[in-house]
Amino acid sequence: MIDQFGRTVRYLRVSVTDKCNLRCVYCMPLEGLDWLKREEILTYEEIAEVVRTMAGMGLERVRITGGEPLIRRDLSDLVKMIADVPEIEDLSLSTNAVLLADQAEALKQAGVQRLNISLDSLQADRVDAISRRPGSYSKIMEGLDAAEEVGFAPLKINVVLIRGQNDDEIEDFARITRERPWHIRFIELMPTGANLDLSANSFVSCADALRRVRKIEQLEPVDGPFGNGPATYYRFPGAPGTVGVITPMSHNYCDRCNRMRLTASGQLRPCLFGDIETNLRDPLRAGQDLRPLIEETLRIKPERHYLIQGSAAGSGGLVALSQTGG
Ligand code: SAM
Ligand code: SF4
Repeated sequence: MIDQFGRTVRYLRVSVTDKCNLRCVYCMPLEGLDWLKREEILTYEEIAEVVRTMAGMGLERVRITGGEPLIRRDLSDLVKMIADVPEIEDLSLSTNAVLLADQAEALKQAGVQRLNISLDSLQADRVDAISRRPGSYSKIMEGLDAAEEVGFAPLKINVVLIRGQNDDEIEDFARITRERPWHIRFIELMPTGANLDLSANSFVSCADALRRVRKIEQLEPVDGPFGNGPATYYRFPGAPGTVGVITPMSHNYCDRCNRMRLTASGQLRPCLFGDIETNLRDPLRAGQDLRPLIEETLRIKPERHYLIQGSAAGSGGLVALSQTGG
């Protein structure tokens, strides 16, 4: 699948639910969103059908995300169905890890190869405050331990930088990579409809983060762990882990975008932002061939995102990343 700008798409991020058990300050409003109705959400069989169709067109990698994917019942069943598609070489999952302790083993057995875990602070009270769910820190720690015990590697840890809430922990996160084989990825806060004040007033650039990390010790640029995503990686000499930065605001990486997104309601989105999406669900339920729709979506994949700090315009009406899977 090659788009009009010469980018090859081999990667699909699949959101399995728009709901979440957390309310991260930068993502979801405290009161939640207008949730999709059950019948609007793709079944596992329908998701697998989309993946099989795209696999026949060049898809090789799938990431399961949400909302929080682990709140959807029997997620391992979907994992197995996707893992059974011969063309899919890489199957990964993004989670907040709150429910991971109980599911890590089953997910590994079913075929999840890699995990990305969101962890915005190393301090219990801060995690609870940022996620606006008391008690989440201890659950997340149990989840992280379970992930390591069952052998998930590499573990990528996503940290969204928020001025005044976790930016004084940049050095602490970076130091972990000297002890553990974790790949800490600092992410620049992106503006969406629900977080315009926060994203405008509490933005921290990854350049700032790197400047601070470099004061600890010199960093060497390295190839990242398998994944080939938007992050740029560095390492302290001899460290088992890496420090990565994801810079959607300061340096967009749209020119090497290799992905499309399938929302929980079956909309195929060629870009995380903007308002372009193709309804695959209804044609799928009507027994139509999805290939022409997928080809057309690829054809109109935008050259880049147009996010603007302090404005909802650039995100194309997107209220929260949980709606598209981030
Ligand atoms: N619930 C799962 C989780 O938190 O990992 C998966 C979905 S979440 C939408 C995917 C990623 O998007 C997380 O790493 C989260 O921190 C990130 N994210 C959400 N809203 C964001 C925003 N406004 N700016 C930057 N990253 C954001
Ligand atoms: Fe939930 Fe993930 Fe959004 Fe946090 S970032 S509210 S865990 S979907």
